[in-house]
Amino acid sequence: MNIHEYQAKGLLRDFGLPVGQGEIILTPDAADQAAAALPGPLWVVKAQIHAGGRGKGHFRETAAGLGGGVRLARSATEAADIARQMLGQTLVTAQTGAAGRKVGRVYLEAGADIAHEFYLALLIDRQTSRISYVCSTEGGMDIETVAAETPEKVISFSVDPAAGYQPWHGRRIAFALGLTGAQVKECVDLAGKLYTAFTQCDMEMLEINPLVTDPAGHLRCLDAKIAFDNNALYRHPAIAALRDETEEDPKELVASKYDLNYIALDGTIGCMVNGAGLAMATMDIIKLYGAAPANFLDVGGGATAEKVTEAFKIITSDPNVQGILVNIFGGIMRCDIIAEGIIVAVQEVGLKVPLVVRLEGTNVELGKEIIRNSGLNVIPADDLADAAQKIVQAVKAG
Ligand code: GDP
Ligand code: MG
Repeated sequence: MNIHEYQAKGLLRDFGLPVGQGEIILTPDAADQAAAALPGPLWVVKAQIHAGGRGKGHFRETAAGLGGGVRLARSATEAADIARQMLGQTLVTAQTGAAGRKVGRVYLEAGADIAHEFYLALLIDRQTSRISYVCSTEGGMDIETVAAETPEKVISFSVDPAAGYQPWHGRRIAFALGLTGAQVKECVDLAGKLYTAFTQCDMEMLEINPLVTDPAGHLRCLDAKIAFDNNALYRHPAIAALRDETEEDPKELVASKYDLNYIALDGTIGCMVNGAGLAMATMDIIKLYGAAPANFLDVGGGATAEKVTEAFKIITSDPNVQGILVNIFGGIMRCDIIAEGIIVAVQEVGLKVPLVVRLEGTNVELGKEIIRNSGLNVIPADDLADAAQKIVQAVKAG
C-alpha cells in the first residue's frame, strides 16, 4: 500500500525526523486558512498523488499557466491561489501514464532554502533478504536515470538484521554524501530514525528524494514516499486507515473485495487463471506468441462460480482487452463448476471479444461439454501452447 507525501511526512515527524511544517487541503475554501497558518517567506504548494515526478509533471486541462505539481509561492495569497487551481485538475507525470491522476488533495508546506539535494532511501533488497540503504549526491532527480547513466553515484549497502542499525551506517551515508562536521551527527541520527520507522511500520520502501541541506547546513526531508507491506497491514490499523482508494485502480479495488489477486497490465489479452504459478506461465506464453497480457489474475484454488463471474466482469471492464484467455486447472476446483461460472458471466456481461478456454483436470470432459452445449462463441483449446496461440491469432485477426 502506498500513501501520500503529507501522510508519510506526518509519520516521519512522529519518529522525530526533520520535516517541514505543513497543512493539507481537500477543498478550495480551506486554502486561505491553510496558507495563512504557515510562516513565510516561502510556501511550497504540492499536488498529492501516488506518483512521483510531480515537479516535472504538467496539468492536463491547463496547457499553460499552472506549471508542474510542485510550485513555490512568495505569499500566502499566492500559495492559496495555486492550491485552489490545482485541486480537481489532472496531473500527468512520467509515472502516471498519459491519463494522469486527478488531484484531490493539495499539501502546503513552509518552504525550505536548499543548499544541496541528496537521495536517500531504505528498501528491501530481495537478493540479500535484507534492508538496504541507497544514497546518492544526485538528489531531486529521477534516481533510475542516475543509476543508468552514472551508476558510480549510487551507493548501496545492507544492514545485518541481527545487529540492526549501527551509527557507522549513518557515517557511511554521510561520507558518501560528502557531509562534514555537525552534519555527520545529524545524518547518523536521521538514518537511525528512518531505520526505526521502516522496521516498526513494516515498510517495503521509504524514499526521501530529495533529502536537503539548508543554508545553515541542517538536514531536512523535503519529499517522502512510503510503500507498506500489505501482508503486515493488519498489525497497523492506523496506517491501514491512511489508504486512499481514489488512488487505486478501480479494477484492483473490486478484485481485492472478492479476494481475487488481480494486477492491471498494459497488454491486450485478459487472463483468468487459477494459481499464481499458472498465471505467471500463462502471461509468459502469451508473450512468447507475440502478444501481451492485459492483467495478472489468479482466481485462487477454491474459486466459486461467483468469483469467476466477478473476475470476468473485471476483465471485460478493461477497454484495453481485445481477447480473453481462460486457463484453469481443475484440482480441488472442478472444471464443470468453472464452465458454469464462465457461462453465467458471459450471459451477464456479454462477450464482445474472442474468448479461448482451456480446461484441464477434474471433470474436464464434463466442463468442455457444458461449454460446447452452451451455444456461446467460445474457442476451445487443448493445452497451454494451443490456447495462447489461438487467442493471439484471434486478437490479431480481429
Ligand atoms: P516530486 O517531483 O514528485 O519528486 O516532488 P518533490 O517533493 O521531490 O519536489 C520536486 C522539487 O521541488 C524538489 O526536488 C525541489 O527542487 C523542489 N522543492 C520542493 N520543496 C521545496 C522547498 O521547500 N523549497 C525549494 N526551494 N524547493 C523545493
Ligand atoms: Mg521527490
